[in-house]
Amino acid sequence: MTRPGQDTPGGEGTAPEQGRLPTSIETDLITVGRRHNGASLAPVVNASSTFALSSVEEGRRMALSSQATAFYSRYGNPTVNDFEEAVADLERAEAARAFGSGMGAIAAAVLGLCSNGDHIVAQKQLYAGTQMLLNSVCPRMGIEVTFVDGTDPGAWAEAVIPGRTMVLLAETPANPRLDLVDLRALGEVKGPMKVVDSTFATPLAQRPLELGCDLVIHSVTKFLGGHNDVTLGVAAGARDLIDWLWGFAVLQGAVASPHEAAAATRGLRTLGVRLRRQSESAARIAAALEEDPRVESVRYPGLPSHPQHDLAVRQMALMGGLVTFDVVGGLEAGSSLVEATRICRLATSLGGPETLVTHPASTTHVSLLPEELAAAGIGAGTIRMSVGLEDPEDLLADLDAALGTPP
Ligand SMILES: *Cc1c(COP(=O)(O)O)cnc(C)c1O
Repeated sequence: MTRPGQDTPGGEGTAPEQGRLPTSIETDLITVGRRHNGASLAPVVNASSTFALSSVEEGRRMALSSQATAFYSRYGNPTVNDFEEAVADLERAEAARAFGSGMGAIAAAVLGLCSNGDHIVAQKQLYAGTQMLLNSVCPRMGIEVTFVDGTDPGAWAEAVIPGRTMVLLAETPANPRLDLVDLRALGEVKGPMKVVDSTFATPLAQRPLELGCDLVIHSVTKFLGGHNDVTLGVAAGARDLIDWLWGFAVLQGAVASPHEAAAATRGLRTLGVRLRRQSESAARIAAALEEDPRVESVRYPGLPSHPQHDLAVRQMALMGGLVTFDVVGGLEAGSSLVEATRICRLATSLGGPETLVTHPASTTHVSLLPEELAAAGIGAGTIRMSVGLEDPEDLLADLDAALGTPP
């Protein structure tokens, strides 16, 4: 197999099957991923790690095929394959490959597509795990990384080194300040593979492949799984690109478990109602916090004050469940807020039914210097909130009590 060409077509997606009604993505969420289910409507867990072969020839074919689902489960598994097909359908992609976590998918994209001497352009606003992979693993492998401001649409093309840049790695909306990347502009950059971490948006809010990007990645652990009970990742794109990643993935071993895949397929069924509710509640909370004198500033793509609000309206069908805000009073006010809330729980992760709050400056990013925090977009009083499925009025009352008396 040749390495996927630099002009691999992305974004055409699959034509609807014959006889299948063209349906909205919210209907698709209910019907996708049932190939290996028989008459069962709920996902069926096929836990087998290996499968009996009818002949040597059958085994030979399966060992060489990215689409074999009854050979050995590191290569493919029926339950995992149903989840992969579900995500491919939702992203309007030809194919998808699931991984043991979101980082498994990101590591496969980076290390599976790039070799010694290659170059990556990535935005500086990134999930911390991705950042560490690019900063610590890539240099050891001889892969050079240039970081750009992802919100500047021209910066991506400018940083491309013709013949050497294999991957443009974007994340939108991005951790932690919900900065956006213009996916249409990114999709128009010629040459490298355009890889998009779309975890914060889900295919319900945006579909990067339809805008010319080549590979879309999700930490399924977050909104797609949706219940804080799954650790899983997925990458979707054109068939030849996924086949190439599969060749790396079977050796990387960041394999998705069928139990996780079944739970994630079940999670997809309710993504529509969950993300709608979370987006509505997040908008309500963001608007209220913006009026609150105890809050310095609020970031939410749906707020007109977001510096890329126009792009958000153009690019995202739903504004999502994450709100990032800065409390007046810095480090002390931020850390006491996340300890004082009663409904909002202090926990990392996002996209589940429970509202979670994090205060990066005192927890996940405590070892960074003030200038490093600032470069990461994290202030002393920055709070990241993943709005869950509770009554938003209760969440507001919880925040109101935890914020305490105005300074
Ligand atoms: C959580 C997350 C990841 C990593 O996913 P895991 O499932 O934890 O490995 C990658 N990107 C984003 C945007 C995330 O939120």
